Amino acid sequence: MGSDAHLSVTHLVLTNKIRMRDGQRLYPVHRIYCVGQNYAAHTREMGGRPDRDPPFFFSKPADAASQSSAIPYPPATAELHHEVELVVAIGQSGENIPVSEALDYIYAYAVGVDLTRRDIQNQAKKQGRPWDMAKGFDYSAPVSELVPASEVGDASHLGINITVNGHQRQHGNTSQMIWNLAEIISTLSKLVTLRAGDLLFTGTPEGVGALAKGDEVLAEIAKLPELRFKVV
Ligand code: MN
Repeated sequence: MGSDAHLSVTHLVLTNKIRMRDGQRLYPVHRIYCVGQNYAAHTREMGGRPDRDPPFFFSKPADAASQSSAIPYPPATAELHHEVELVVAIGQSGENIPVSEALDYIYAYAVGVDLTRRDIQNQAKKQGRPWDMAKGFDYSAPVSELVPASEVGDASHLGINITVNGHQRQHGNTSQMIWNLAEIISTLSKLVTLRAGDLLFTGTPEGVGALAKGDEVLAEIAKLPELRFKVV
């Protein structure tokens, strides 16, 4: 190692904060957890068996969450996929949370897109290697403004939709989740202590597909602000 290496603190972002809908409050992102294969039809399109294989978790770095209207096409892929998802923002710490109390830990909701380098993921699956570079790259977690849970109410039967250049790609309903929101929170809290600032991406319905530079993406969930971005 050279002796002149230095720490460039001007580019060190200690906390990634995302906006709430009121335009005032910011939500500091602590961690991002994602549920894999939580809608049966998507599990089947990924080659899984929803009757036999339960959903599972993976994660992305906190700074992958982005509210930029311009999302860069990432390097090292020729197959960038969209996965539209309901995002839950946790508001307080908890471990071993019972299903019956789990919804009390939700501070807010948002619409998110779990961007995926599908070619890297397929290669990792074949080789039995980690998914990190398929899922956890820069700008891989676009999210809308957050809305307090008290303003959303019941989130268990919301239409979820994504269009690319005006053409519908995915359409479903949060009622189609295999693990519902309370079960996701309870299950995850038995693996890690949940903290305020944790974002949970709750899985995607079927119809995932490729994005290209120049695509205009619109992700929508009833009761929540639109998420719009252009792939640049
Ligand atoms: Mn996903």
